[in-house]
Amino acid sequence: MIRKFLVAFALAAALSFGALLHIRAQNAIVITLNFEFLRQGTAGVVSLSGADLVGGVISAFDRTYPFFPITGGFAALLAVPMEQRIRDYPIAVTVYRANGETLSWEGTVKVASGEFIREPAFVLPSEKLHLLDMAVQESEDARLNSIYSVVTPERFWEGQFSLPTNAPTTSPFGSVRDFNDGSTRRHSGYDFRMAVGMPVKASASGRVVYARPLDIHGTNVIIDHGWGIFSNYSHLSQIFVVPGQIVLQGEVIGLSGNTGRSTGPHLHWEIAVNGVLINPMDFIRLKLPT
Ligand SMILES: [Zn+2]
Repeated sequence: MIRKFLVAFALAAALSFGALLHIRAQNAIVITLNFEFLRQGTAGVVSLSGADLVGGVISAFDRTYPFFPITGGFAALLAVPMEQRIRDYPIAVTVYRANGETLSWEGTVKVASGEFIREPAFVLPSEKLHLLDMAVQESEDARLNSIYSVVTPERFWEGQFSLPTNAPTTSPFGSVRDFNDGSTRRHSGYDFRMAVGMPVKASASGRVVYARPLDIHGTNVIIDHGWGIFSNYSHLSQIFVVPGQIVLQGEVIGLSGNTGRSTGPHLHWEIAVNGVLINPMDFIRLKLPT
């Protein structure tokens, strides 16, 4: 359950910081975390409000998360990697003001269990076993990471993200998977049971940035939604879009299939925020700022 609390309370308890005194004296800048804690592999919204703000950035989990303008202030999406250990972490919010001032606040964020499961063993056919080579995995991870790490300031989406299909789900995000060559992987997305040739829809409006095969993800489409949010639709049999094309939420971008490191026809759906793969099901339920 998401609970909202004002960081202003924390500011009152940390008056020894000169910058914080300034914030309180102005009584103008409020940092709001829309969560009590974050689970591994999820994202939360942090917002800023106050006079004369021009932006800001969050430092947490050895990453930086930019703020973007929203109605009445700024918002950032704080995404936690699925591998992040369960404990409290320091978080620093730096705020930029129009007069050139930089103010900062430091606090903590609790990371809770993503409650990931271990799936029954996966059996890849012999002709696909080479797709478990670490060299193949690392090469593809690096390629996707370079795509997912881009932050487009423009926001293409409106409202909430949506499911790419109404088909039944088969395999959750973050699960531990043992393969028949003895190797283990973590599931980077969510799976839906779909026969070959079923329509796959864009989860939100955005710009297509990738539309071609990869070894593991198979034929896949990646959409940049802006604000560092990307969605990926993998193992497709056909693609209907090209890089650079703007697509609308719900638009059919391709057809499901069984390409890449897949043990049967299905759709694999990924969401990355600020370079971090997160649980897509949690993300479509997250109340995004407007
Ligand atoms: Zn999958």
